[in-house]
Amino acid sequence: MKQDRENLLDLRPADVVARLRTFAAEHDVAAYRGNQVARRLWTTPVRSFAEIAELPAAFREHLDTAFVLPRLELVTRQESADGTQKFLFRLPDGESIETVTIPDGNRLTACISSQAGCALQCAFCATGAMGFARNLAPWEIAGQVRELMLLDPPLRPTNVVFMGMGEPLMNWRNVDVALTLLNDPAAIGIGARHITVSTVGVLPGIEALAARPEQFRLAISVHAPLDELRQKLMPVNTKYPLASVIAAARGFVRRVTFEYVLLGGVNDAQDHAARLAALAIACGAFVNLIPLHPGGSRGFSQSTPGATAAFARTLRARGVEVAVRKSRGLDISAACGQLRVERLGRRPPTRAHEDADVHVA
Ligand code: SAH
Repeated sequence: MKQDRENLLDLRPADVVARLRTFAAEHDVAAYRGNQVARRLWTTPVRSFAEIAELPAAFREHLDTAFVLPRLELVTRQESADGTQKFLFRLPDGESIETVTIPDGNRLTACISSQAGCALQCAFCATGAMGFARNLAPWEIAGQVRELMLLDPPLRPTNVVFMGMGEPLMNWRNVDVALTLLNDPAAIGIGARHITVSTVGVLPGIEALAARPEQFRLAISVHAPLDELRQKLMPVNTKYPLASVIAAARGFVRRVTFEYVLLGGVNDAQDHAARLAALAIACGAFVNLIPLHPGGSRGFSQSTPGATAAFARTLRARGVEVAVRKSRGLDISAACGQLRVERLGRRPPTRAHEDADVHVA
């Protein structure tokens, strides 16, 4: 039965090799054939077993009977004048997710999704407005990069950021496996220091990420230096208040990045900058100042260039390392959730605690 075929893309590389070597032996084929198949899942990926030309034809057919290599269906691809590209993928159950690629010199950063929708409802975020549908499986997370590698011509990301749709640390069980698929040289093989997990500050997830031996990077969405304001912008602040998030950032095994979206007249005053500087210094954090991506951001406006420069100056004067990000892909609505909202409209929001599929660590 085709439906019962085992999905090889949800297994960690070590497990997949063991499984395929056993399978080869069961089909009277040398065990190293199993390693050959494993390499074609992620490292130099194929669309189907039939494409693995180095295998005997009969073995390819056996593989096809027992296993499946599921695909994400590319629905839309848009390219910005600045080279940023945005992809909308449809999942097997009809949900859709976005992936963005951002070229920068020799680097190509893939911005990937970890959930279909998001339960957190940050006030300025288009994904928050569409509500939460479900967690992505490991293959659907790492598979976004796999699909880029299967394009003709292929795109090969050098960096990955979990800054697409969803809160990665509320889907830790699957993000944990996806990180291995992205990083392991036997799978995609992107260096851990080139993979950044971005979170609103889900504490158990931060601990789980810290417990991994690889040097994955952590970015924390701070967005306000005071609880009262952060609460308005990010309702999740009730569950993970600023002080607890800052303490987790300070305790993290490696240097963290603070993300701070500048919202004109809301969080961009000098007093905010001074308070943010104190928090950043307490954690030794690097600060990324992000211009608001206007599409879908309901009622907020960008900080003026003057306010942005003054904000950065205040941080620097206090000894904080700061980068002011450029908005990329403005002409293609390339911020979190914007393409899906354009194409499919919004859904009524659901809340995380009402959905059994949301889990941390
Ligand atoms: N849930 C995670 C990761 C996904 S969002 C997190 O919140 O960190 C990645 C980043 O994009 C977050 O810092 C988020 O606040 C920011 N973001 C969301 N909407 C944005 C917009 N319209 N303009 C700029 N940044 C936005």
